[in-house]
Amino acid sequence: MKIPERYLDPTVEIREVKRTDGKTILVATKCGLYPDGKGGQLGDRGKLNGATILRIFENGEETIVEVEGIVEPGVYKTEPDLSRRMDIAQQHTGQHILSAAFVHLAEIETVSFHMGEEYFTIDVDVPYIEPSVLKEVEDLANKVVQRDLVVEEILTTAEQVGNYNLRKPLSEKINGPVRLIKIGDFDVSACGGFHTDTTGQVGMIKIIGTEKVKGELTRVYAVSGLRALRYFQKYTDVLKELSKQLTASVDELLIRVRKLQEQARERGLLLSKLSEEYAQVLALKLRDESQEKLLYLEGYTEVGNFLVRYVDLNGRLLVFYDGSKYMFASKSYDVRLLVESLKQTYGGKGGGKADLANYQPDRPVRQEVFVELFNNLYQHVQEV
Ligand SMILES: [Zn+2]
Repeated sequence: MKIPERYLDPTVEIREVKRTDGKTILVATKCGLYPDGKGGQLGDRGKLNGATILRIFENGEETIVEVEGIVEPGVYKTEPDLSRRMDIAQQHTGQHILSAAFVHLAEIETVSFHMGEEYFTIDVDVPYIEPSVLKEVEDLANKVVQRDLVVEEILTTAEQVGNYNLRKPLSEKINGPVRLIKIGDFDVSACGGFHTDTTGQVGMIKIIGTEKVKGELTRVYAVSGLRALRYFQKYTDVLKELSKQLTASVDELLIRVRKLQEQARERGLLLSKLSEEYAQVLALKLRDESQEKLLYLEGYTEVGNFLVRYVDLNGRLLVFYDGSKYMFASKSYDVRLLVESLKQTYGGKGGGKADLANYQPDRPVRQEVFVELFNNLYQHVQEV
């Protein structure tokens, strides 16, 4: 692994130990562990004198190490988690290769880079990338991996950097020593993170998604190394399960899902048609058999929606309950009065227009309540 010189010796010198909120905070004057977020990279984890390292961050000249466990001030040789270092190296090197592939193939430049625990992202300077271009870039990046090129670490200075063909010019603010990462004849970039010794150790680079960000940039999500394998394992598991549940081979899954969507749409239409017909029948029955001014009905929401259309609501108020919320409709009584009155006693939310409103109570409302409320609220109302 290509590890910057200052992190080769993982010795930590602790000047002070503080305990806050059940955490042990170590103030280190010298720290051979890589801090979180530095250069967009993940920080080291591992053990420090038996204590588990939780977080590492730079604070001016000193480094703060948060651990779980008891540690006294002193000098300690820590044990950084090497498989994590390798994972970080795979993501970093993978990112250099991917960013370089975007330049080689499509002159798309990387503006920024971020490494997360699940994937890494690069923001590139175009608002959209054709899927075919993404595929070509991914292919080229993986060919570079398969060429197993040597990854070199070159220590130079800002003054001498002009001797190298850097993918991205060095910021003018930087002076003094500069660390370059050279990947065969494919890429040279200034970088202070962990990298693999060869491109072959990156294993694989997989783009897993894109998203438009900040108006004019595209964020490319990708994984390398063992993370790429984990990604495929997860997706194959999901596909296998889907294929089992839908009794279709993976190749037939898309056709099967489209068929199911079509069926669901057809059934939805049929359900709507049946609900409408049922509402029409109910409305006829109510017209012929009931003289009540207040109609109380329970049933499916779909039926309720149609009932409002078909029941003669002149001189009547319809209360329809679908098991969770109420619908009130009338052409003669302002149903908002009913909603407001119910809210005062039963809480919940609701509202609407004078002739149609919805209401969802916090507590159950007994059916008799509507009769009482109707008589109280609308006794002086003249029927239209
Ligand atoms: Zn790097």
